[in-house]
Amino acid sequence: MSSAPKNSPAAAVTPESLLRQDILSLHAYHVQPSPGMIKLDAMENPYPLPQALREKIAQVAANAEINRYPDAAASGLKERIKAVSGLPAEMDVLLGNGSDEIIQLLAMAVAKPGAVLLSVEPSFVMYKMIAAFTGMNYVGVPLTEDFSLDLPAMLDAIKRHQPALIFLAYPNNPTGNLFDAAAIAEIIAAAPGLVVVDEAYYAFASDSFMPQLGRYPNLLVMRTFSKLGMAGLRLGFLAGGKNWLAQLEKLRLPYNVGVLTQAVAELLLQHHEVLLQQAEQIKQDRIWLHERLVGTVDVRTYPSEANFILFQLPRAGKVFAGLKQRGVLIKNLDGGHPALTDCLRVTVGTAEQNEQFIRALQESIHQYSQEK
Ligand SMILES: *Cc1c(COP(=O)(O)O)cnc(C)c1O
Repeated sequence: MSSAPKNSPAAAVTPESLLRQDILSLHAYHVQPSPGMIKLDAMENPYPLPQALREKIAQVAANAEINRYPDAAASGLKERIKAVSGLPAEMDVLLGNGSDEIIQLLAMAVAKPGAVLLSVEPSFVMYKMIAAFTGMNYVGVPLTEDFSLDLPAMLDAIKRHQPALIFLAYPNNPTGNLFDAAAIAEIIAAAPGLVVVDEAYYAFASDSFMPQLGRYPNLLVMRTFSKLGMAGLRLGFLAGGKNWLAQLEKLRLPYNVGVLTQAVAELLLQHHEVLLQQAEQIKQDRIWLHERLVGTVDVRTYPSEANFILFQLPRAGKVFAGLKQRGVLIKNLDGGHPALTDCLRVTVGTAEQNEQFIRALQESIHQYSQEK
């Protein structure tokens, strides 16, 4: 082994000298460490699977041919997804290693020089980050004060920036609300590019754009199974017309969804009702959690159609730290976006976790209201 001689070109290479300036300027997506904590920060399903189903997973995993590359077409899994997702006939699906990967794939596909990715703010931060990764120009149109779509502002921005790609999270993250469906329809009709309705929280919501696929030539619907209880498997999909998906398939890395993910997800989707029942329980507990937050002094809550609740309160940063000291991890959104000043986001957990969270919240609020 010889190292690079002092005056060789190799000796002068550093990340700062080599990497794109826009990558150097990015802040890394921060995942909080959480060993031993009550984890209510990442919209995960808090329930384990029934023992019988876990044993079936063990069997499926034992029989999986992990020495072989996965089925690149993933035909078995795709058929299951179509069957459980209410896909209109003639529509197809593209699979992603989580839906984050699909956002990236879509951006890569449309990223001609100067192309614009448009979304709303505040919303899912990966839209903006992936626009940066792929060299797209990002436009974020502010939501109104109650986090509704500002339709005139949206239509104006669409006219002005001619976005190649629009992402609308439905329900929105981190605000939790469903946007007005008629306003979304107007946006789709006015868009000169693709509109992707991101239904990461479909299992907890009262509405979906899936049935609208095929009514608009530029509409795609994206979903993930992460929030339903498969966050660790990494599986998302994009649903839409074959004309779009056949082109986008060219950009998908052939083995992006592994053997174990395919096998286990296919099995779990054969038992979709188990997961939907857990989602139903989470929706029930969301009502309880919302009522308790409403009943907590100084807290302002926002309505949620997702498995989390956004709320605002004085000294949110300190209350967040107080929760952490008490072993409860939620998400601090204060300082991220001006509209989210003093906002925190809690994922709906088990009934017991929700109670522990409320108790810790009340104690933290009390502690900091004493301090002043
Ligand atoms: C969580 C989330 C995703 C990404 O989920 P994956 O785990 O990558 O499938 C996409 N969109 C929104 C709005 C989300 O909240």
